[in-house]
Amino acid sequence: MERIKWEEYFMAQSQLLALRSTCERLSVGATIVKDNRIIAGGYNGSVAGEVHCIDEGCLIEDGHCIRTIHAEMNALLQCAKQGVSSAGATIYVTHFPCLNCTKSIIQAGITTIYYAEDYHNHHYAIQLLEQEGIEYKKIPFNQQHVAQYLLNN
Ligand SMILES: [Zn+2]
Ligand SMILES: [Zn+2]
Repeated sequence: MERIKWEEYFMAQSQLLALRSTCERLSVGATIVKDNRIIAGGYNGSVAGEVHCIDEGCLIEDGHCIRTIHAEMNALLQCAKQGVSSAGATIYVTHFPCLNCTKSIIQAGITTIYYAEDYHNHHYAIQLLEQEGIEYKKIPFNQQHVAQYLLNN
């Protein structure tokens, strides 16, 4: 029996987290992994205790929802809150991170970014990743492939 690859497993985890998103604009999930262990995860959502965009509608300013904390930030902040080092870790995200998240990911010492879908891939984000020598690679997510594993077990 074939085993699911780590890369596909962690990307599937991010896809599942995206299903928890509370902002209607984009469902994003992020999983931070070190030595093949999940150290943190996050999805697009409000500050804890705040209303959800899916219930109240987004809070838009200058074309952005200002209520939402991005999935990548939520995952990084989980590391901060729990006192877990993100240095040298890998982040699996459902979408190419926005510029602010890219800067935070780099600053948090993450060295590899795997993303499933392109999303406004910002030229300055790419420039920074290149400059800092951060590995970033697109790993398209194949739902059917993962479903096969689940159905065959
Ligand atoms: Zn929103
Ligand atoms: Zn972002």
